[in-house]
Amino acid sequence: MSRLVVVSNRTADPRKTAAGGLAVAVRESLQQTGGLWFGWSGKIRSETDAAAGQPDVRVQTTGSVTLATLDLDQRDYDTYYLGYANDVLWPVFHYRLDLANFDVRFAAGYRRVNQLFARKLMPLLRPDDLIWVHDYHLIPLAAELRAMGCTNRIGFFLHIPMPPPLIMAAIPEHEWLMRSLFAYDLVGFQAEADVTHFAHYVESEAQAHRLEPGRLRAFQRTLRVGAYPIGIDVDEFAGLAQGKEGREMFARMREEYSRRRLLIGVDRLDYSKGLPQRVHAFRELLAQYPENHNSATLIQIASPSREDVGAYDDLRRQMDSLCGEINGDYGELDWMPVRYIHRNVARKRLPGLYRASRVALVTPLRDGMNLVAKEFIAAQDPADPGMLVLSRFAGAAEQLTDALLVNPYDAQGTAQAIQRALTMPLDERINRHTRLTQRIREHDVHWWCASFLEALEHSGQEHDS
Ligand code: UDP
Repeated sequence: MSRLVVVSNRTADPRKTAAGGLAVAVRESLQQTGGLWFGWSGKIRSETDAAAGQPDVRVQTTGSVTLATLDLDQRDYDTYYLGYANDVLWPVFHYRLDLANFDVRFAAGYRRVNQLFARKLMPLLRPDDLIWVHDYHLIPLAAELRAMGCTNRIGFFLHIPMPPPLIMAAIPEHEWLMRSLFAYDLVGFQAEADVTHFAHYVESEAQAHRLEPGRLRAFQRTLRVGAYPIGIDVDEFAGLAQGKEGREMFARMREEYSRRRLLIGVDRLDYSKGLPQRVHAFRELLAQYPENHNSATLIQIASPSREDVGAYDDLRRQMDSLCGEINGDYGELDWMPVRYIHRNVARKRLPGLYRASRVALVTPLRDGMNLVAKEFIAAQDPADPGMLVLSRFAGAAEQLTDALLVNPYDAQGTAQAIQRALTMPLDERINRHTRLTQRIREHDVHWWCASFLEALEHSGQEHDS
């Protein structure tokens, strides 16, 4: 079996147990092959160190897994990470051209760091290593590695959505980015819609040919593409619901809200998550269906995220004001319609909260997948499950068709769906939940990891350049 080398912007410390399903599944695959995980340490180098030359790679082995990390200079962090990754690729790939900040220095920093990663990774590679690169921070990494003579099989997985060609073309370097993807042997996306967008882009902009389903040819290279929707570890999450913190949280919430109906939203505070639109829809629910007064309560957890990027400040202020208004307009002495919490909640406490909720609102404007939707399903009591209201613009909507799918821009339509979820008869809830559980079990995080790696193992040797 080939050794697995995972490359991502950040690595996850194998000694920490709080990590989510993705880190656990990747680590399991690394353990099986005595693998290597390479990425940024999360640290910024001092100016003195930066002046002394390129950063050293720190190598640390825990069990059978080796972690190799390097620090970044301030200038690289500002341009590659804050600039190109978070201020260009993140907004554009989430269809938010209005929030993108195109600056040639960002593109230069992005290229520089990808070159640095390639240069530092090259000496650590063995000839038959299987290399798996993750996410939008590292799109050109394979092209940089190939330029240095790397002939290994290299796969790429994009965790965020792939936008349609016209939106992609808004990025000044779009041709370079998309061409770079052809240096991989396999490119995986979250959803079929993403595969279609990519295929349309390369067919219209690069005269690519579709050789057969899942194989595209352009730039004298043949590339395998496919949808590998990421999942969760269903048993691990259901187990957390039965753990001490899970049960305590469930009991507390059930007692506190025994006379009320609880709705839950759990997101990073990010403009892609549709949080203001969700609060509008909840307000619409109270306006259209007054029987929910003094009863329906939305707990919205919005964990702090990327606070050094400007657009996030505006969102925070907007949420403070919308939640304040709704509580001022509808609240009673003993009832607050919205409880808005701008803090991270420990992962092991979430299952109890999900299980105590009648409805989950997962209504992003655009999302690669959305794992909260799957976690909510996994945490439910199968005999009395809560209902998921899910945006059709989340990658998860392709799989979770038994949720109530909504257009998050349509506040009235979303309010109707929430009302339907709140009043859904038990047998319908059980039927939907049974089918949803099947879907998240069929395609869990272990399936995701294994199927991507199997496809990568069987790709390659298709280049003729
Ligand atoms: N999460 C958490 N605490 C919080 C908010 C979120 O542990 O306060 C976790 C959540 O359980 C999920 C992940 O963060 O596993 C969010 O993943 P998702 O795919 O929904 O969105 P992303 O943040 O990756 O865009």
